[in-house]
Amino acid sequence: MNMNMEFERQLTIPMEVKKMYPLEDDLREIVERRAGEIQDIFTGKDDRILLVIGPCSADREDSVIDYISRLRKVQDKVEDKIFIVPRIYTNKPRTTGAGYKGMLHQPDPEKKPDMFKGIVAIRSMHIRALRETGFSCADEMLYPENHRYLDDILCYVAVGARSVENQQHRLVASGLNIPVGMKNPTGGDLSVMMNSITAAQHGHTFIYRGWEVQSHGNPYAHAILRGYMNKHGESLPNYHYEDMTHLLRLYASGMFKNPACIIDTNHSNSGKNPFEQARIVKEVMAARRYNKELERMVKGFMIESYIEDGNQAVDGGCYGKSITDPCLGWEKTERLILDLADMV
Ligand code: PEP
Ligand code: MN
Repeated sequence: MNMNMEFERQLTIPMEVKKMYPLEDDLREIVERRAGEIQDIFTGKDDRILLVIGPCSADREDSVIDYISRLRKVQDKVEDKIFIVPRIYTNKPRTTGAGYKGMLHQPDPEKKPDMFKGIVAIRSMHIRALRETGFSCADEMLYPENHRYLDDILCYVAVGARSVENQQHRLVASGLNIPVGMKNPTGGDLSVMMNSITAAQHGHTFIYRGWEVQSHGNPYAHAILRGYMNKHGESLPNYHYEDMTHLLRLYASGMFKNPACIIDTNHSNSGKNPFEQARIVKEVMAARRYNKELERMVKGFMIESYIEDGNQAVDGGCYGKSITDPCLGWEKTERLILDLADMV
C-alpha cells in the first residue's frame, strides 16, 4: 500500500453515537422551532436581524456554556429585533495545518488529539447548550463527513474561507436543510463564493459516508463577507456600501433562491482587531437603512465574541479568553447587542 498513515481504530458511526447521546424530545422540538424561525429570516417572512455570535473556537465546555448563558439573558431582552445563534465552533481550519484544531481533535487543548473523545465532547457540549439555554447553535462545517454527528442539533453552518472552493463541501451543503453560509475565500474572489452558493442550491448525486446519495439543493445557501487578503498579505474589508451593492448585482441574475448575506465583522474585515466590530455593525446598519434592497439582502452579522477581550496562547490559562482569533469581551458584546437592537 502506498500510504503513509496508520489506521488507528474504527470510529463509532453517527447513528450509534446519537443512540449513546440522544437528543430528548423536548430538545428536538426546540431545534425544529428554531429551524423554522431561521428559515423565515432567510425567506424574508421574518425581518429580525440574525446574529451568529460567539468565540472563534469553543475551546472549553465550562466557559462556552457560561458565555452562552449570558447570551440567553440578552436574547430575551431583544427577541423582537434580533435572533441570536451562538457560535459553538468545534473544528478550526489552520492556515498552515499547525496549531489547535478545535475540540473535535483536542477535547483538552493542551493534550494530544483523541478523535472519539472529541466526537463525544462536541456532541455533549452542543446538547448541553440546547438544554441549559434553549439555543440550537452554529458550527463550521470544516469536515463535511462529520456533520452527521451534529445534524440533529445545529441550526446553522458556515463553510469557511479555506473550504469554500471545495467540491465535497458544496455537495454536502446541497443536502442540508439549514442555512449554510459560504464565506468569500481568503483571496477575496467573490465568484468562488457565488459558484459555491449555486452548487449548494442545486441537487447532486455523490458519495457521502460510503453511500451513493442524491441531494435536493439547499435554498438557504447564502454569502458571508469576511474581508480578504491581498497579494501583499494585507487585510482588506468587504463590508462597505460598494461591496454590498456589488453583491446585490451578483445576485441579480435571478438564478438564486433567497439571495442573502451575512457580514462577518472580524477576520479580514476587522483586520483581526475585534474592537472594530461594533463600528462595522453600525456602518452596515447605516448602509441597510439607505438602501431597501440591501436591507433585504443583508440578514445580519457574524461576530467573534467571548468572555474576555482579545486572545491568548493555547496554554494561557485565562478563563473565557480565546485561544484562536481575538474576540470582543462580554461587556462590550452586551453593549453591542443592545445598541444593535436600537438600530433595527
Ligand atoms: C472563523 O469563523 O473563525 C473562521 C475560521 O473563519 P474564516 O473561514 O472566514 O477564516
Ligand atoms: Mn475566527
